[in-house]
Amino acid sequence: MRTLPTATRRLLETSYTFSSVTPHLKRVADRGQTAKYLFKLRDGKTIETVVMHYDATQRSRARTTICVSSQVGCPIGCSFCATGQSGFDRNLSEAEIVDQFLMASRDLGEGQRSLTNVVFMGMGEPMNNYAAVVGAIRRWARADTLNFSPRRVTVSTIGLVPFIERLTAEGLPVNLAISLHAPDDELRSRMIPVNRKYPIAAITGAARAHAERTGRRISYEYVLLQGVNDSVEQANRLAKIVNHGLSHVNLIPMNPIEGSPLAPPSKSRAQAFQAVLQTAGISTTIRATRGLDIDAACGQLRARQLQSAPSPA
Ligand code: SAH
Ligand code: SF4
Repeated sequence: MRTLPTATRRLLETSYTFSSVTPHLKRVADRGQTAKYLFKLRDGKTIETVVMHYDATQRSRARTTICVSSQVGCPIGCSFCATGQSGFDRNLSEAEIVDQFLMASRDLGEGQRSLTNVVFMGMGEPMNNYAAVVGAIRRWARADTLNFSPRRVTVSTIGLVPFIERLTAEGLPVNLAISLHAPDDELRSRMIPVNRKYPIAAITGAARAHAERTGRRISYEYVLLQGVNDSVEQANRLAKIVNHGLSHVNLIPMNPIEGSPLAPPSKSRAQAFQAVLQTAGISTTIRATRGLDIDAACGQLRARQLQSAPSPA
């Protein structure tokens, strides 16, 4: 921009940045179908963002989904989650959430592909950073920005009930994913400490109200942990909890994390669990694991990076 006066160029240099996130590391897996980014923030902290391509099937069109982070770390501390085990640092700003989308879009280039869906399933608990998350969804949706419909956005939450209710009152037609992971409060409280404050019945009640208000289906996420929450008896109990018309269950065989004895069940055990739900008439899928070789489970790439080269505080 040499046509601008030197003083203006200096001002721009010191006070204007194009993006609040910059690519620090990128890993590609699944024959180019999955890309995981480690983005650096202006204060040197790092977050993960994943882009996943899905080919068209008979039932659905091709999709390119971006999985965004909402916090640096997470204060909830779930036992099976690498992010939860690494502690909490800070909330992301609205700009840092918005820019994950823009930076990943830019990296897709001018080809045929563009981002079609957003899921808040990266690092952090989105309902714990409510204003920035809803602000980002509204900003992507504006006609003068991306015109990206909230119907293509899924917010995944561990179940912070007052914020689920606030989201419902907001009237935004976003999809809600509830990370349930256990069919009873005793077990769930051991895996997810915040369950003592917001137990299962309160969460499913808020989820149903959201489904009824928005007409959007609720997706219940259930990480399968061998010998912990994966028995046929537990599947029967889960079926009773999620048994309402607008629900879907997503079974996720656990992605093993370093230093944890928790492990995924065998394929046949996962299928037996799924069969119970299906027999009860509940739409259920077992999620295909993506990017195992690039530490694609929530928080893993960052955890490994922090071990080898701690980012400046
Ligand atoms: N905090 C929110 C969103 C981020 S976590 C939430 O918990 O919903 C996104 C999803 O990744 C959640 O369903 C979570 O349970 C799952 N997850 C976390 N650790 C995992 C692991 N080790 N293996 C498989 N899924 C995991
Ligand atoms: Fe936080 Fe979600 Fe991980 Fe639990 S699963 S620690 S809520 S990011």
